[in-house]
Parts: sequence; structure tokens; C-alpha cells
Amino acid sequence: MSATQHNSAHTVSDLAQDASKVPQRAAIRHDWTREEVEAFYDMPFNDLLFQAQIVHRQHFDPNEVQVSTLLSIKTGACPEDCKYCPQSARYDTGLEKERLLEMEKVIQRAKEAKQTGSTRFCMGAAWRNPKERDMPYLTQMVAEVKSLGLETCMTLGMLTRDQALALKQAGLDYYNHNLDTSPEFYGDIITTRTYQDRLDTLQHVRDAGMNVCSGGIVGMGESVSDRAGLLMQLANLPEHPQSVPINMLVKVDGTPLDKLEDMDPFEFIRTIAIARIMMPASHVRLSAGRENMSEQTQALCFMAGANSIFYGCKLLTTSNPDTHEDVLLFKKLGINTERTRDYSDEAHELLLEEALEQQQAPDELFYDATAGKTAGKQAETA
Ligand code: SF4
Repeated sequence: MSATQHNSAHTVSDLAQDASKVPQRAAIRHDWTREEVEAFYDMPFNDLLFQAQIVHRQHFDPNEVQVSTLLSIKTGACPEDCKYCPQSARYDTGLEKERLLEMEKVIQRAKEAKQTGSTRFCMGAAWRNPKERDMPYLTQMVAEVKSLGLETCMTLGMLTRDQALALKQAGLDYYNHNLDTSPEFYGDIITTRTYQDRLDTLQHVRDAGMNVCSGGIVGMGESVSDRAGLLMQLANLPEHPQSVPINMLVKVDGTPLDKLEDMDPFEFIRTIAIARIMMPASHVRLSAGRENMSEQTQALCFMAGANSIFYGCKLLTTSNPDTHEDVLLFKKLGINTERTRDYSDEAHELLLEEALEQQQAPDELFYDATAGKTAGKQAETA
């Protein structure tokens, strides 16, 4: 049966029946076609969400969300030309560049992240690729954060095979490197590295035995076919990325995409649902753009299969909902984090208290892209 037939043949009641008939777990596939994926975009919204929920419940606790914290360890002055990114040296976004962060500040942030419920600590540097001279420092950073009992993730740009191996040996659990968009639209967004360069880095990360975190950004003026193309690329990799961040473009003044129309939130929710269906066992991360989403949109994203977020008020250089807002939203939705599987009222109150306490402390580690000249915010993906 073709995807279109499959689509039209499934009414809501068919799907409801399917819920009891489907095998224990949806098959993990790596042979998705563009027609199949585009057909998902054409499905009635409720049918799509229902199907995504079925798949989600086969693989995950539907009321549990994994929480990561992201810290910029080196900010701005990036030589690449990613058109969405305020960290590119090519655009005047008012971003102050910063050197590689001191180890003690990184450790302090990692401890705070653990306290507020994060299980993974992601460290991002605005580089084309890490320099060899920085590798000993980076590997030490991985080992120190790991020793706190957190999962570790880094995003440093392109990696060689040897660099990937060195990071793995230091204890790095995840490496983030996004594909950003479809191969067809890619040249409209980035010209300083090729799609193949990105695929090569993902290969080195996989070969080194690390988990892959890779996703993309929607709302950059791409077509539905491009969104389908991005998801196809991700789902047809030799292994599905263990984490799939789906970002909604956050427009930052001074970047070439700052005047684009806002994306319809329903299209974003659809993209989350389709990612969930195509990569059933991956954590799908509701990533940048969350601050501009209503609680209801975020709730629909969780319904559609998103089961990972970043906690904290900044995403590298741009803003994110305050941690206490996330804790309150989780409470309203009855969502647990991995750290608080038993999300009793007491556990929730404690988490909320800690989150509020930390937010009252001055934040010296991040440039606030929302202050002053910038109306929008942006999350970057090295
Ligand atoms: S997304 Fe990453 S590689 Fe691209 S300009 Fe920003 S920091 Fe540099």
C-alpha cells in the first residue's frame, strides 16, 4: 500500500482500532520515501497526532520528558555563515564574543543544572571545528562534568575521526551536529560547509561509539517538501539519532532571516509528530523557539511525541522559558522529568524552589540576545 493510500484509508476510527492491533513496537525503518513523508503533512491533524501518540506510547512513557541544560562555552565570532545564527561573525547582531569559558564556571553551571532536574549537560562552542590545541581542555571538561553524574553532550562544529575518538574516550555521551534542513534547501542557508561535511561528522561520531544528537530548524522559508527532506535524511541515516532536536526559527535582528514570516505553530507540531512516527525510539527534542510558543502549543508538541527539552533561561546566546515556568507547565500537564520519576507534590515543590532560587542569582555566563536591539531570539546549532 502506498503512503497516500495508507493515509486516505485511515479514518480516526480505523486508527483507534489499529491502536489495539499494532505490533508491540512500530518498526524502526531507514527507507522512508519523500511521498510517504509528504503524505503525513497532508493528513488530518488529529489523525496524525493520534498515530504519533500510538508510536510514542509503544516506546516511551508518554508523561515523561528528558531535560537537558545547554551552556555556551565559547560565544560568537564564528567564521561560518549560517543565516539563522547570531554567533556568525558575518552578521551584526550586537553579540559580544567571549573566549572559551573557565573550567570552574562550567562545573558550577553543571552542578546547578543537575539540581534543577537536568540529566544531561550540553556544552556548545561557536566554532567551525575545534582546534587541536583546545582538545586537552575539552576532554578534561567532559571528564569533570561526567564525574558529577550527568550525561555529557558537546556541540563544537565539525569533528575529525580522531577528535571524535578522543571525546568518546574522555566520556562524552552525545555529540550534537544538526543537519539543519533538506539537502535541496541547504545552500540557501549555509555556504561555508557542505551537507556532506555534516554527514561525515555524524559518521565519525557514530563510529566513535557516541550517541548522535541531530535535527534541524524549521520556519526558515523552506517548503513542506524541504521539511520532509530533512526528516528523511535523519530517519534514513544508518542509525536514527538518539536525540532529534526540532528547532523553530527564532529571528534575531541583524541575521539574514530576521524579516521572515512566522511559521504556523500547527506546521511545527506536525513536524514533531512526523519525527516521532519516523524515529520511534529517538528522543525528539522541543528545542529553540519554545519561548515564543504558548503553553498550549507546547502541550500539543508533547502530545505529538516531543519528550525532551532544554531547561534554563538561555539557549547558548538566546532566551528560553524560565526553568520555573517549565516546572509549572510540567505540573499542569502531569509530566515527570527523568530525575523526578515520582513527581509527587513534595518533589515538585522542591524543584520549583530550587529553580526560583537559581533564577534570582545573577547570570554572568550568558549574553542576553533579547536585551537592547534584538526583538527576536535565536538558537544556534554549531
Ligand atoms: S550555527 Fe554554529 S557553525 Fe553556524 S554560525 Fe552559528 S555557531 Fe557557527
